[in-house]
Amino acid sequence: MMRYVIIGNGAAGATAAQTIRQHDATGEIVVLTAEPYPMYSRPGLAYVLIKEVPPEQIMARTLDWYEEWGINLVLGEAVSLDVEQQMVWLADGRSLPYDRLLIATGARATPPPYAGAELDGVVYLDTLDGTKELVKKTRRARRAVIIGGGITALELTEGLSHRGIDTHYFLRRDRLWGQVFNDEEAALLEKKMKAHHVHIHYNTEAVEILGDRKGRVRGVRLKDGGEFKCDLVGVAIGVKPLIDVVANSPIATDRAILVNERMQTNVPNVYAAGDCAQVYDRWTEKHMLDILWPSAVAEGNAAGLNMVGKPYEYEKGSPFNACLLFGLHITTMGQINPRRDDDADEPQILQHVSRGSSEVWYTHPRPYRSAWAAENDNTIRLVLSGDYLVGALVIGEQSLTDSLRYLIEHQVNIGDMFEELSAGGPRMRRCLMQFWQSILPEPTRV
Ligand SMILES: Cc1cc2nc3c(=O)[nH]c(=O)nc-3n(C[C@H](O)[C@H](O)[C@H](O)COP(=O)(O)OP(=O)(O)OC[C@H]3O[C@@H](n4cnc5c(N)ncnc54)[C@H](O)[C@@H]3O)c2cc1C
Repeated sequence: MMRYVIIGNGAAGATAAQTIRQHDATGEIVVLTAEPYPMYSRPGLAYVLIKEVPPEQIMARTLDWYEEWGINLVLGEAVSLDVEQQMVWLADGRSLPYDRLLIATGARATPPPYAGAELDGVVYLDTLDGTKELVKKTRRARRAVIIGGGITALELTEGLSHRGIDTHYFLRRDRLWGQVFNDEEAALLEKKMKAHHVHIHYNTEAVEILGDRKGRVRGVRLKDGGEFKCDLVGVAIGVKPLIDVVANSPIATDRAILVNERMQTNVPNVYAAGDCAQVYDRWTEKHMLDILWPSAVAEGNAAGLNMVGKPYEYEKGSPFNACLLFGLHITTMGQINPRRDDDADEPQILQHVSRGSSEVWYTHPRPYRSAWAAENDNTIRLVLSGDYLVGALVIGEQSLTDSLRYLIEHQVNIGDMFEELSAGGPRMRRCLMQFWQSILPEPTRV
């Protein structure tokens, strides 16, 4: 009987366990988790913070589910591997032998790279326990500073302002979500944030978090030497794949665990998937970090198939993300921005990749041109490269999102639509509408 051990009970690990069971009815499947919950939705943490759902509602599996699928969920932290003996060691001294091992440990928020990170009142939107703790702290807090340039920082900002805290968003640069938005898109979000009474401080950088005698946050020191009083500091400056468990093993890593298209590491019988893996990407022909939920699910599935001996090559799809920030629906697809030269000084692990983000968004190897349509609070930006649509960003009204996703994912040759699409404005919208109508099955056409 085959013994499968999976370290991690997130989107990648739980999916892999299910896939294994679908193809191996008798093998023993152990899923190790460091958190005392069944699998839950990490993107859902933002909805807990904003009070849209209680924590129970972000559970993606029940404990019964593990029993039904014959999966043994074990609470414990893996600390090291012996790949010769095929053994996983846990922090409490237990050990687990394996025939096939999957590492699916995810990633964690990066702490600020300056003094004060350990103070009471420095918070992250990262884990369920951390979010529960954060919600408790909001009951006493009066003024919060949020640091970070991506979606999670914006979600933290929205959640804290929604809980009635005087919320100040610090940005090192001069544009909201600068890695993704252009000026017009950023202005739309700015309008919404101001309507929610958020104070946005552009070109403002914290260099230290200051504490009181009891070890609680009392403010931040700014780069210009000034001090800013606050009692909470929300940090979302990027993520770091959790790969400590492979530290003293021969498993090859770069910024995460390197895997081929079958999710195999360089060590026999050891696989990796999800946020802790750096997977080969056909768009860029490099190993990329992809901190997205759907990617973790697809990688977990690919790992599961290969672990049961069904060869399957994972092909990274075009990245996709949809979010709702301050009442604005924002959908990001494919490659939307070239890498900005002025980011060269960013520490590598923080560069570009935050929660709900893919490096692929920012790496555009070919010449491209942008097209633009805007109307009230609705905008569409297309990224056209040769005869193909390679990316799109849709804000507000989402009726054209499906057609854009189809064009990008199916790599449809848009040669005959190119002129209309690159004209932008109503011509672009009309052309996309017509295309979508033409591919919909007859009964759904309007
Ligand atoms: C606030 C937030 C918002 C997000 N928004 C989006 C979004 O809008 N769209 C999107 O696509 N993605 C989003 N993401 C990212 C998405 O949630 C992740 O990409 C996805 O959860 C990765 O799944 P995973 O299985 O690789 O890792 P995880 O979900 O992090 O699971 C890792 C598992 O490993 C366990 N573990 C870790 N170390 C050990 C160890 N040593 N021993 C035992 N167990 C261990 C953990 O307890 C956990 O069970 C968001 C994430 C957060 C936090």
